[in-house]
Formats: sequence, C-alpha cells, structure tokens
Amino acid sequence: MQNGRRVALVTGSTSGIGLSIAQKFAQMGYAVGLNSFEPAADVADTLAQFGNAEVRYFEADLADPRAAFALIGEVTEAFGHLDVLVNNAGVQKVAPIEDMPPADWDRIRAVSLDSAFHTIRAALPGMTQRGWGRIINIASAHGLRASPFKSAYVATKHGVVGLTKAVALEAAEKGITVNAICPGYVWTPLVAKQVTDQARVHGLSEEEVIRNIFLAPQPTRQFVQPEEIAELAAYLCGEMARSITGSAISIDGGWTAK
Ligand code: NAD
Repeated sequence: MQNGRRVALVTGSTSGIGLSIAQKFAQMGYAVGLNSFEPAADVADTLAQFGNAEVRYFEADLADPRAAFALIGEVTEAFGHLDVLVNNAGVQKVAPIEDMPPADWDRIRAVSLDSAFHTIRAALPGMTQRGWGRIINIASAHGLRASPFKSAYVATKHGVVGLTKAVALEAAEKGITVNAICPGYVWTPLVAKQVTDQARVHGLSEEEVIRNIFLAPQPTRQFVQPEEIAELAAYLCGEMARSITGSAISIDGGWTAK
C-alpha cells in the first residue's frame, strides 16, 4: 500500500453526513478526497478545518455522468490509488407525484443513484487489482420504507440498496465489501432547512414540526447525529468488517423495526 495509508473519496462531503465521514477518515490518518459541485473557492473554509491532514477537494457535479466517472480518475491520480469509496451525495424534493417536476426526478436519481453506478464502475478495477476495497453507499431508511410525497427520493434510495447488493455479489471474492448505510433522520443542514420550510408551510412552530413530522417515524424521538454515521462507516472499513457485505445497515432509531 502506497505510503502505508488508506485513500478514501467521500462524495458530497462539504456538509452534513459526508463532511462528518471525511473528518473521521482524516482523524484515522487516511488521505481524503472531498467532493461537491461547489467551486473550490467556496469550500476553502471547510478545507481549512482539516488542518494538516492529507485532504484535497475535487469539484464535480455528480448529476453529470461523465463528471462522476472522471472523478475517480482524478482522485486516483492525485493520491496514487483509491481504497474506500463513499457514495454520499444526495438531494431531496418533497411533492405529490403529480406535482413532482420531471427535472427534479431526473436530478435526484442522477445525483444519488446514477452517480454511484458511475463511480463504482470506475473504482472497482483498481480495488480489484489491489485485492482490497470498501464501497459504502449512503442510502436511507427510505431505501427500505416509503413516505408519501418523496417518490423520487424513495425510488432512488431503494435503487441504491439494490445496486449495493448486486455489486457486493460481483465483488465478493475480491477482498472488496459493498454495503449501504440506511440512516433515519440525521440532524444536518439539509434537514434543518426542511424544518424551517415545513414550519412555514404548515403554520406550525419548528418544535412542532420536529416532534410531529420529522421524529414521528423514529421511535427514539431523537435525531441521529452525523458522527454516528461516521463511526459506522469507519467500522465497515476495518478488517473485522470483512464479512459484512451486501448489507443494508439501519441506523434509524428503530424506524424500520416497525
Ligand atoms: P447535506 O445537504 O448536508 O449534504 C449533501 C452534500 O452533497 C453536500 O456536500 C452537497 O454539496 C453535495 N451535493 C449535492 N448535490 C451534489 C451534486 N450534484 N454533485 C456533488 N455533490 C453534491 O445532506 P445530508 O443530510 O448530509 O445527506 C447526505 C446523504 O445522506 C444523502 O445521500 C442523503 O440522502 C442521505 N440521508 C440523509 C438523511 C438525513 O436525515 N439528513 C437521512 C437519510 C439519508
């Protein structure tokens, strides 16, 4: 292994869950590729938070299939190889299906599901050659259960779980594991913004929106914290997780136990 250190790419890692996973990997001594569609100048503060860790930013809009595929080549060229791929980037749109703009359906599917197909296609040959790899797809409780008004998101996340299982079988004898993490509601900027929007739409206080809408399906009545997802991702990258593959691992406060 080059320089004895692992190399990880986390897509959509300038915020929320992806940023937390990237921070955890950096603390573990990994070289880390951060990614978002934002220009590099806009993420300078985020990058600075990593101090002296070996972290680089790769701008790529993952809605573009060519950019998603090319991203793997850029990271591999910059760091020498790629050991861990976390497909985390995702977007959301809440609307009844008859009001769901086709462009939003396309973008949600492209950013979460199609991009994972393209990055995995590009990353697998290098991992196979090295005989070791970890692919972690951030799906959702909505990869296992549905909610109304989230047709594109639910369909996409179910697709991510299916993709995970198929690739896990293909990679099973190559020292590569492929898993989906399925979080319930996680307190991130994505969710904080939805709380504000829903409060305005429903004429409720933010506390009522959190209690009656967001935490209603989550039996613990608490948000999952991004750091909890990061710890699970780190565990999946260890040797003792080598037999965990093709799994959709829930971290959802009991949501999918119902
Ligand atoms: P977030 O909005 O805080 O972060 C999303 C990240 O993806 C950002 O860095 C953003 O720049 C990036 N991104 C968005 N579109 C992109 C594109 N076209 N190309 C490249 N990067 C892009 O969101 P989050 O809550 O941290 O969610 C991260 C992942 O976790 C998503 O896949 C989401 O579906 C999933 N998830 C979130 C929750 C939750 O409650 N927050 C629950 C289950 C699953």
